[in-house]
Amino acid sequence: MSVLLIEDVTLMTMDRGGRIIPKGAVLADSGEITYVGPAAELPQELSGDVTRIAGRGRVALPGLINAHTHAAMTLFRGYADDLPLQEWLETKIFPIEARLTAEDVYWGTLLACIEMIRSGTTTFADMYFFMDEAARAVEESGIRASLSIGMGSLDGKGDEKLARSAEFCEKWHGAAGGRITTMLGPHAPYTCSRSFLSKVAQRAADLGVGVHIHISETEREVSDSRKQFRMSPVKFVEAGGILQVPVLAAHCVAVSDEDIDILADYKVKVAHNPGSNMKLASGVAPVPKMIESGIKVGLGTDGAASNNNLDMIEEMRLAALLHKVSLRESTAMPARTCLEMATIDGAICLGLEDSIGSIEVGKRADIILMDFDAPHLSPTSTVDLSSHIVYSSCGADVSTVIIDGRVVMDERKIVGIDEEEIMLEVDKRALRLVAGG
Ligand SMILES: [Zn+2]
Repeated sequence: MSVLLIEDVTLMTMDRGGRIIPKGAVLADSGEITYVGPAAELPQELSGDVTRIAGRGRVALPGLINAHTHAAMTLFRGYADDLPLQEWLETKIFPIEARLTAEDVYWGTLLACIEMIRSGTTTFADMYFFMDEAARAVEESGIRASLSIGMGSLDGKGDEKLARSAEFCEKWHGAAGGRITTMLGPHAPYTCSRSFLSKVAQRAADLGVGVHIHISETEREVSDSRKQFRMSPVKFVEAGGILQVPVLAAHCVAVSDEDIDILADYKVKVAHNPGSNMKLASGVAPVPKMIESGIKVGLGTDGAASNNNLDMIEEMRLAALLHKVSLRESTAMPARTCLEMATIDGAICLGLEDSIGSIEVGKRADIILMDFDAPHLSPTSTVDLSSHIVYSSCGADVSTVIIDGRVVMDERKIVGIDEEEIMLEVDKRALRLVAGG
């Protein structure tokens, strides 16, 4: 693999020291970062096959990490809006999902991958069905992903699904040159029995993978759980033994102080989805309180049917604004915190902090360049760049995307993929699904 050099760029490393390097350079060899620092101090003259990326007027950031989504749901974007969660799920989403084919999931995921790349996301955590096809889309698009098959056990087929999921993990964990990792995906406490959760925990430990699960998305889920099991969903999953393995818990909207203590004790990672939670009127997750309790919180878009896009820059802004207005506290969730959630903390949520989440020597080169040469991002020399990114920019400001050392978008052109074909194919498939075919 060739050497990649980004020159003369403003570097936001998101490393522990929060280093920002004004005229910086990044060097990567075979996808691994070998130099981060001032351009003037680049270690040696480079020879041979070097891909040079001009960084003037650009800000380089670690690629954004979408910690919770259902990528193929791009097929249902805009199909069922402005409905209550349960009605949305039961009358619209579940029936249309029942008609999905493996090929639909492939095309829907591929569309999601290019949408995410275009808006600066280089890694996503996905939970859905037909995940072999999703993995194929990830492999072809060049993006990085942590994939899990969504499983419920209330239909009596839990064991079968778990065996299939374990097979999926064995097949795909570490595939696509390490870009694909896997988790087990028990859907939620209300779709999985306690004994099934115990089996999932055991299998995850055996496989050495984490667990991706929805927990406490709504007040209704919590009151149903209290009625049926006399405990909160958090206590229910604890009783099932799931918290013994690394857990990525999506939502955690309706969590009590006691629940937060449990999540913190077990070092559960939380994926916060402000856009989806607002659109489905699920409520406001107590994110500032969770962060204060030491819980690592990442950011996710959730599926495109409840957001309705996969733009992580917008999601950062929503997170900042939602908690400020909900707490009537303008200092809540500063821009920098939101940026950490979308980068390094997202990497921690996926258990990938040793390889991604910041621009540091030894990590994989997942780097995005944002075009700051724009009226809505001026002036630049007087401000904290985090503010501009979170409050003023949008996904379309991302100009170049590098994943694992490979340029997958060059000056807003997706490399090696026919976007037109994908959009046409998804349109055709969405039409068939909506028509009931
Ligand atoms: Zn979800």
